Amino acid sequence: MKSVSDLGDLRGKRVLIRCDLNVPLDGSTITDDGRIRASVPTLNQLREAGAKVIVLAHLGRPKGQVDPKYSLAPAAKRLSELLDTHVKLATDVVGSSAESVVEGLGDGDVAMLENVRYEPGEESKDEAERGALADRYAALGDVFVSDGFGVVHRKQASVYDLAKRLPNAAGSLVKAEVEVLKRLTEEPARPYVVVLGGAKVSDKLAVISNLIKTADTLVIGGGMVFTFLAAEGYEVGKSLLEQDQIEAVKGYLDEAASGGKNIVLPSDIVVAPEFKADSPPTVVAADAIPADQLGLDIGPDSAKVFASVISSAKTVFWNGPMGVAEWASFATGTSAVAQALTEVDGLSVVGGGDSAAAVRDLGFEDEQFGHISTGGGASLEYLEGKTLPGLDVLEEQD
Ligand code: ADP
Ligand code: MG
Repeated sequence: MKSVSDLGDLRGKRVLIRCDLNVPLDGSTITDDGRIRASVPTLNQLREAGAKVIVLAHLGRPKGQVDPKYSLAPAAKRLSELLDTHVKLATDVVGSSAESVVEGLGDGDVAMLENVRYEPGEESKDEAERGALADRYAALGDVFVSDGFGVVHRKQASVYDLAKRLPNAAGSLVKAEVEVLKRLTEEPARPYVVVLGGAKVSDKLAVISNLIKTADTLVIGGGMVFTFLAAEGYEVGKSLLEQDQIEAVKGYLDEAASGGKNIVLPSDIVVAPEFKADSPPTVVAADAIPADQLGLDIGPDSAKVFASVISSAKTVFWNGPMGVAEWASFATGTSAVAQALTEVDGLSVVGGGDSAAAVRDLGFEDEQFGHISTGGGASLEYLEGKTLPGLDVLEEQD
């Protein structure tokens, strides 16, 4: 991949930059601005080079339709504060507002297009439809910088097709993320422990077969753990469960056992009668989840075991909260795991939007971890050894 510095003199050039500004919102209030802050260094580099900077980004899943709920306005406001300059937001993606906003840019100025996912072409599976939109993006700029690490695993118009149409480079965030992931895949210091949790069960189950090969130990919590407990033959009550994945999980457990790898599952679970912040929690054994309750966190004994496995590792990658960490009653397991990561004598990496938000919310500082990745899905796919379209498409360094 080329760097921004390989793009030559950028003074007066229109630079289209794909950023990942997909932050969690409560109404129009940003609850974790980590991804916006992570985008700042490359944007400042471009401004200092005298470029006219045009940011492309998405928020949530408006599915090809204009929906004010998913406007990038809160992100533009926060970015203005962080860059200490007014970042103008076009009211459309590639229409007349976008054109006039770009037209009005001076050297070193920054503007944003509206949510690229307002356009049906952005996420289309049809190459021609994506290409038509990418042509319109490309008409707004002279060069392209890819810095939205959280989306590089997506074959989308502003990530993939646009890169095919303009001279391009990777931004400093994408470069930094890839460097850390390389350290995880190329001879990681051992023991190498991978901790998985969160809610995107089927997505994450798919990565396990690969991680079993590279990591020494897999530690499983969060919503996906119930499919593992079900595979062990336990009842999981009303907990999150992917019935159709139980056979695959049995396969992973066998594969781990025959390959000398450990899969560490919780021995106790915090359950509650309802999926609600104030539902009364009780701790039960993992093989005794009552039929009318659901698991919302790992229990205290499990938290101790998980913490000791993690803190004695030399390399740790963690994606996905151990429970519903947004709610104080069910955040204890996630907090224990985060604390253990801070004690690792080696490389500790936290990946995933919700995981990063959870550790900050629980009072940890970014500096306590080796690296906090802005991309959960992208990191996992990289660790799986998959080709990421948004990286693969970028020009090679000369
Ligand atoms: P990330 O964004 O870090 O990749 P995910 O999006 O996969 O993580 O998962 C985060 C979500 O998982 C959180 O909103 C959290 O509430 C939810 N979650 C964690 N444990 C459970 C559980 N036991 N049951 C239901 N949801 C859970
Ligand atoms: Mg998430």
